Amino acid sequence: MTAFLQSQLDFILFFYGLSFILLGAVCAGVARSHGREAAWGALALFGFLHGVKEWLDIGALMFGDGPLFDGLRTWLMIGSFMCLSEFPRRQAAEFGLKLPAIWVYPPLALGLAYCELRFGLNVANDLARYVLGTGGAWGAALVFVLHGRRASEVGRTLCLLTAGGFLAYGVATGLIGRPASFWPAQVINQERLLALTGVPIQLVRGLLASWLALMLWAVGDQLLKSEVKSTRYTAHRRRQFAWTVLTMIGVLASGWTLTQVLGGIHQRNFAQRADGEIGLLTGRIASETTALDQMARSLAGAPPTPSFLGAGTAKTRADARTMLDLTVSASGAGRGYLIDRSGRLVMRAPANAAAPPGPMLSSAIRASASGLGPAFILGGPGAGPDYYAGYPVRGPGGGVLGVAVLGKSLDSLRADLRLFNAPFYLVDPAGVIALTNRPSASLRRLWLAEGGTPAASGAGSLLDGPVADAVWTTVRGSRVYLRRRYLADGRWSVVTITPLVRMEPRRGQGIVVTLLATVISLIYLSGRDRSVRDSIYRDRQMELQRLAQDLTFKATTDPLTGLFNRLKLDEALAAEIARAERFHTPFSLILFDIDHFKVINDSHGHPVGDQVLVELAQLVSSRIRVVDVLARWGGEEFIVLARGTTGSMARHLAEQLRQAIGELEFEWGGAVSCSFGVAQYAMGDSSDALVARADAALYRAKSLGRNRVELAQPPSSGALAAVA
Ligand code: GH3
Ligand code: MG
Ligand code: MG
Repeated sequence: MTAFLQSQLDFILFFYGLSFILLGAVCAGVARSHGREAAWGALALFGFLHGVKEWLDIGALMFGDGPLFDGLRTWLMIGSFMCLSEFPRRQAAEFGLKLPAIWVYPPLALGLAYCELRFGLNVANDLARYVLGTGGAWGAALVFVLHGRRASEVGRTLCLLTAGGFLAYGVATGLIGRPASFWPAQVINQERLLALTGVPIQLVRGLLASWLALMLWAVGDQLLKSEVKSTRYTAHRRRQFAWTVLTMIGVLASGWTLTQVLGGIHQRNFAQRADGEIGLLTGRIASETTALDQMARSLAGAPPTPSFLGAGTAKTRADARTMLDLTVSASGAGRGYLIDRSGRLVMRAPANAAAPPGPMLSSAIRASASGLGPAFILGGPGAGPDYYAGYPVRGPGGGVLGVAVLGKSLDSLRADLRLFNAPFYLVDPAGVIALTNRPSASLRRLWLAEGGTPAASGAGSLLDGPVADAVWTTVRGSRVYLRRRYLADGRWSVVTITPLVRMEPRRGQGIVVTLLATVISLIYLSGRDRSVRDSIYRDRQMELQRLAQDLTFKATTDPLTGLFNRLKLDEALAAEIARAERFHTPFSLILFDIDHFKVINDSHGHPVGDQVLVELAQLVSSRIRVVDVLARWGGEEFIVLARGTTGSMARHLAEQLRQAIGELEFEWGGAVSCSFGVAQYAMGDSSDALVARADAALYRAKSLGRNRVELAQPPSSGALAAVA
């Protein structure tokens, strides 16, 4: 599990960074929409800076790290923690707490810079974590506890959950840092945690960051809800929240799968290449040894050899000597030997060749009973292993007479194989490295003998035990592909240990695709949110407009007849007077009143009276021009503003109206009559004066017997000239 999580560190860092970027976005949203700029803005900046820092960590993982890059990332982290601390510092005033002013940061930064120069980056890193990381996170936790005490039920729970998140984050990010030489970093650090639990701290921090992002979102939502106050928006936000969480899980899961697949493809290609290499290696070694095997066999089978080992006469000796010399020079072997049944060396070529090493002799003796295969032998005259091929020499009856042996140093092979890139090891059955292109490993043990204790030679062994055919494993902290292949003798084997390189860039492709998918889905989701919010605002605005229209309508309309009311007529009259004054256009007022209306009310009831008013309004409306304005002046009195009309023309119109009214049979079965007072506008007239003159004319019509039209005289004063 630990190894698995370690191999996923890049994706964990990506997820960790993403959570912080999201946290930043959420806080930026709150800062924008609530006038809480300073504190929430600082929290947003913390999220963004910290997220970027984590993503730079991926860069370090992929492209390698250096002191400068490490320093840059540490200072980015320090900056982000200052922003985190700024959140509680800004909010403290709201709760009546006194905290140091903003100038605390420069001395803090200077102190950390001094620590970095004096004690190293890790110390500065850990100190910043203790002071700013834990301090800021726990301060934020306190702020949310205090907010929670003021909030309503749901808000309180959310605030407390957020506070819990910050509390835990303070521990994970502040207290568990890099290992350093001082207490408590000495004891409590991320490596200790990894060793104890197998969980990389980055995973814990990433999970806490996503928890914080979710909780802050919910808190922000709560604030937004009180601002937008729309059930539709609240429902939308709830759906949006669920969608975002689901989308993020979906994107991360598929992104992770893609990353794994890409990594897997790389790993398979890598293994294939390593398989090819070990094939090449064993082939090269075999080409060196098979020829020797065959020559040794033919030497054992050639007639002079058994003749000499059987009889030992001078004649046979000379033949055997020729045979041995020929074979040695033809096979390219450095040495050739004939050994008799008792294990005594009876002939060698060249004559000054060193005796074969002890193990070879003893196995040759054993061979007289069983048989002898080829063997790699350490400790021969060469610097590395020598290769010996020995075959029993049999007499005519089939009995073993001795052994024919060819020996060869593998020095030239070793020189060739130096050119091989990946580390390879030719190991004997006990795991001792006989041939390698890593000189420091030569003659050490590749692995401890089974059940063996670390002997002097095994102290530095690379592997814990004998290895299987092909396996992925971790050697000294790096992931390697281990391949073992036996040589023809079935006992010696070649092992290659190829460190997995350039894996991260391939996985990086998966991570980049995931990032793009995340960005696209977030843009889509936030666009949706914006459009819903806009549509809510639009609806609200339209509703307001309708309401305003409704109000204007009500303010200017008579509810019974649907005609304009007095207010509207006053407006129209004022406008018309202004026009007349400016352009000298004539206009007139016709004021009329139903005769004896009280009687209708009294004898037929008020509703019938109302009906008469409505019918009369409809009749008059249909008889006047579009440009004229008809209004209910009050009770059963109406008024017509006739534009572009002189007094006499208006009198004519009034006469027509009077007749039409008289001819109309109303719904109640009877007829009514009206009296009319007409007045033409005279220059300098006020609206009141004009109406008063029309009213006077109406009064005259009433007093002269009703059901008639009277035209008002122009104002008597000579100063007011009537418009012709
Ligand atoms: P005249 O004008 O010919 O002198 O007689 P009149 O009976 O019409 O005069 P008066 O002004 O005394 O009476 C007006 C009546 O109109 C009084 C009131 O009850 C009635 N009236 C005013 N507004 C309404 C209304 O909205 N509906 C009904 N049904 N009656 C109304
Ligand atoms: Mg009346
Ligand atoms: Mg009246």
